[in-house]
Amino acid sequence: MNTKVVIAHRGASGYLPEHTLEAKAMAFAMNVDFIEQDLVLSKDDVPIVIHDIYLDDVTDVATKFADRKRNDHRYYVIDFTFEELQTLAVSERFDPVTGKQFYPNRFPKEKGTFKLHSLQQEIELIQGLNQATGKKIGIYPEIKDPAFHAKEGKQLTEIVLQILSEYGYTTKKDACNLQCFDAKELERIRVELKSDLFLVQLMEFPEEVNNLKHFASYADGIGPWYKQVLDRKVQEKWQFTSLVSDAHALGLKVHPYTFRADQLDEFSSFDAMMQTLLIDANVDGAFTDFPDLVVTFLNK
Ligand code: CA
Repeated sequence: MNTKVVIAHRGASGYLPEHTLEAKAMAFAMNVDFIEQDLVLSKDDVPIVIHDIYLDDVTDVATKFADRKRNDHRYYVIDFTFEELQTLAVSERFDPVTGKQFYPNRFPKEKGTFKLHSLQQEIELIQGLNQATGKKIGIYPEIKDPAFHAKEGKQLTEIVLQILSEYGYTTKKDACNLQCFDAKELERIRVELKSDLFLVQLMEFPEEVNNLKHFASYADGIGPWYKQVLDRKVQEKWQFTSLVSDAHALGLKVHPYTFRADQLDEFSSFDAMMQTLLIDANVDGAFTDFPDLVVTFLNK
């Protein structure tokens, strides 16, 4: 039986603007195991599903609210109410300085009609589709930049945990993996806030591999950058770091990010990437912008 999980990274974001409800519905139809929600609070404490604390690289905020930028010339989700945020048009990701689309071959920038939405709205979409289809697709929320939220006097984590609990996500059995890059915050979620959810420690920096044992004291899995799994190529064959085997020895699942068919870097094809990481390196799942391709690969 295939036990590896496919996580729709920001939805089916290779095909539709990231973190739109449309991208989530498409991912749902692709039979993924989990759909991801990155979470940032609005001014009035609504968790918004958006990748960054900024608005200006995925919306028309600079046109609609030109005078609301901060001194660093960025527009912050946290400076706008949910009502204001819902008036913005969401677009495929672009560079706010040059206006250039980040992934040129994806959904065309500024086309279509897309909006921002809350965590609650997305859970209701996924739970509604689960009921209508008989599927059991899970959610994979991420607490974004807890230090920034704390500095702004906001309790993102407490608000998110409360909403998750209201929608029936409280234990490891409830198809909800909660993720965070901030190790102190994820540990706090387990130890102080006493959450029984499946917790995934995201990893970004090479030296973090030394903290695996500590991660295992509170987390159920890790989400490394996939390059942390790769060592080097010897005679055209990838050698791996000890990260996956070390994590498995500690009982941690390994869900690396991000599998992109249009950003292959060291791989010759997306199939080679999937074969190398999912099969040869034996990771337990994948965050991907192209969920259909990973689902098809794993079903083979
Ligand atoms: Ca994320």
